[in-house]
Amino acid sequence: MKREKLWRRVGLWVIIFLLAFGLAVPAGIAGNVTAQPDSVSSGDGEEPSVVRVAVADRASLERLIADGMDVTEYARRTQEGIEVDVVVTPSQLKKLEKQGVRPVETLYTPSVWRARVKEREAALAEKRAVTAAADTVKILRADYFENDTGAFLSVEAKTSSGEVPDVILTARWDKGPGTQPGSGGEATMERFTDAGAYMYHRMLVPVSHRPSSVQVTSSQGGGAEAKVKEWPGKGPKKPSPHYVKDFISHYMTPTEAMERIERLAREYPHLAEIIELLYKTNGYRRKAQAVLGSQDDAKVVITSRAWGHEGGNRLAVEAVHPGKPNHPLTVRVKDHLITVELATDASGSPVSSAAEVAAALNDRAGRWVTAHTYRGNPGSGRVEPQEATPLTDHLEAPDHISRDPFTVKAIRIGKHRDGSRTGVLAYAQEHAREWVTPLVAVETAERLLRNYAHDKETRKLVDNLDIFIIPSVNPDGAHYSFYDYNMQRKNMVNHCGEERSDPELRNQWGVDVNRNYAVGSFFDGFVGASGDCLSQVYAGAGKLSEPESRNVIALAEKHPNIKFAMNIHSYGGYFMWSPGAYKPEGRETLKRPDPGEEAFFWAASERILAAIKEHRGTVILPGQTGPVVDVLYSAAGNSADQLWYERGIFAWNFEVGADRWDPEAKRWRSVGFQPPFSEGHEEAMEFSDGLIELFRVARDYGKDRKPPQTRTVPRPGVHKGPVEVRFESSEPVTIYYTLDGSRPTFRSAKLKAAGLREGAETLTIDKTTTIRWFAVDMAGNIENHYDPGGKGKNDRRATYIIRK
Ligand SMILES: [Zn+2]
Repeated sequence: MKREKLWRRVGLWVIIFLLAFGLAVPAGIAGNVTAQPDSVSSGDGEEPSVVRVAVADRASLERLIADGMDVTEYARRTQEGIEVDVVVTPSQLKKLEKQGVRPVETLYTPSVWRARVKEREAALAEKRAVTAAADTVKILRADYFENDTGAFLSVEAKTSSGEVPDVILTARWDKGPGTQPGSGGEATMERFTDAGAYMYHRMLVPVSHRPSSVQVTSSQGGGAEAKVKEWPGKGPKKPSPHYVKDFISHYMTPTEAMERIERLAREYPHLAEIIELLYKTNGYRRKAQAVLGSQDDAKVVITSRAWGHEGGNRLAVEAVHPGKPNHPLTVRVKDHLITVELATDASGSPVSSAAEVAAALNDRAGRWVTAHTYRGNPGSGRVEPQEATPLTDHLEAPDHISRDPFTVKAIRIGKHRDGSRTGVLAYAQEHAREWVTPLVAVETAERLLRNYAHDKETRKLVDNLDIFIIPSVNPDGAHYSFYDYNMQRKNMVNHCGEERSDPELRNQWGVDVNRNYAVGSFFDGFVGASGDCLSQVYAGAGKLSEPESRNVIALAEKHPNIKFAMNIHSYGGYFMWSPGAYKPEGRETLKRPDPGEEAFFWAASERILAAIKEHRGTVILPGQTGPVVDVLYSAAGNSADQLWYERGIFAWNFEVGADRWDPEAKRWRSVGFQPPFSEGHEEAMEFSDGLIELFRVARDYGKDRKPPQTRTVPRPGVHKGPVEVRFESSEPVTIYYTLDGSRPTFRSAKLKAAGLREGAETLTIDKTTTIRWFAVDMAGNIENHYDPGGKGKNDRRATYIIRK
């Protein structure tokens, strides 16, 4: 790096200015932005110095600033006026003098800066010498995008010294083709670690121009350069006039959503039907409860045997003073009122302990209720008399919300619903409070059916796919979220023992449906779920202990034509796939998809994200796209992992509801689980666009009969010294190969991923070798129609002759 350039680029004063005025950095992932230092470079080859100048008064100072002078934050009043420090070139200073500005002192000249730079580089060199060889830096992604709020650059890079905590990566970018590296700005990248392991460095910064390339340099001496790619998606697109959409006008409870899909199926019997899922949920229902006593050691928790709506809510309990001495503890039940007559001593004072009252209730009112002391307390405190207290299930939903076990329904859409077409499963609301997610499901179903008659594109999808949509996997929890406790995430099943079943804990019971699945499970030691029944990520009583999760898996098992799935959640604007979980030791993830599968996930994702963007410009960030464990966290026992690893279904997770830019506060704001409907509506519309693009991906997959084509790079032939051979392909493929001249089969070596977010590995060929291989695309087509199990010799071959 030339020193002169460095000097110009430093732009320290600009940095201070930008930082002082709160340059916004989105999504909280960015380093320190120095941005465009244009105002410093004079453009005429001159170098600026920091000069202290004197001006007459505040008005002259303001004129200086208005004229675009680079005035630092240093200003002092003097006898004669004001002294300020300015960053000026010699000719600029001359001009100022003509305007009556008097130079006082030159503070920092370029030579001072050069000395500083030298000093710094010497220190760095010394450090480098002790920290051994330079690291290698690899730029994983460099993406540019524009959304409804501005233009941004997202960079991910990985250093071989990533485990060193103080390794600093700095990204510098240009302003487009032909411009200087760094002319667009520079920023320190954030070191991204998860579970104690280094992942990569990343940054997301606003930019003024579309950069064409980015350089990343490491404090350890390494560096890399990469072209900046356009992240998918053009701006909002005008919808075609004949395409009808927007069928939602308010948030829908599961009861409403199910009614809606039933009506649709009745209206379009030739295109749709309702499928009742195999397992009924426990139901929106609870036992009725009351508590006697107020001190912990004197509390008795009473729970009805019947569900609240089936009689529990009619019960009441009272504790009465018998009004005479030496009375025994008695319990009577009459007309749904349970009366506890407390025991008294010789002086007539009540003496029954909570433990004694609980035992008496179990003994004599056990047909109606069970009773226990409070949270495992021995219950030695004395129970005080208490007026009749009704037992209640605390459920506030109106009567038309059924209290019975709920039959979860899916709508199945397709002209040929006989298993002969590629199946796609979309399911929403595993998490109860995510109110926007059923809207995505319902809107999408409506679009498919109501556009069928007049929209050719829709007809292609419905004629050639077998689509299953579950608007709400977790209806009980969702009803609870609408009527009782809006932040309910889990289902309503209480697996806590009596010690933690007092009604104060009722908003914390339940199983996290999306942690209850069997693959990468908490029960097998994976991270991101809990065995505590009150935890928000409680994994349940065992793998698939809940009807809600069993329903999703049973549906996928019953319909093996399902090859694609979308698990719809909110919020945050993520788009993710497997692996979704890891074990704590060494952050060992579930097996990564092979590079071909990974490439397919990416390619399909780009289409889907582009479609989302077309609605109102929403961009799902590059840093929030990828395997769950790369971009979010470990989620042990989630459904998408089970669909992928057990059934080979390309399974994605949507987190709808990307952050919105707040232009006033100049920062990103999250939308939450239950945004105003106007926002929730927009989220549903844009993610429905995305879901429909997934259907198109599935349709293309279903009709793909074209074998892939591959080649090796560099060309085969004579090479001097070892070569790194990589494969190029016409579409995402899995490659099986041999290096010993034998015929490749499905048991041969499979090309692996080079590493996290890095694409396929290269093969190191250091002696003369014939590579034999075949490629399989995601639809199962094999290159050259080669039969790996047969005898044919139509596999691909490339011979590398290595001369030493
Ligand atoms: Zn969720």
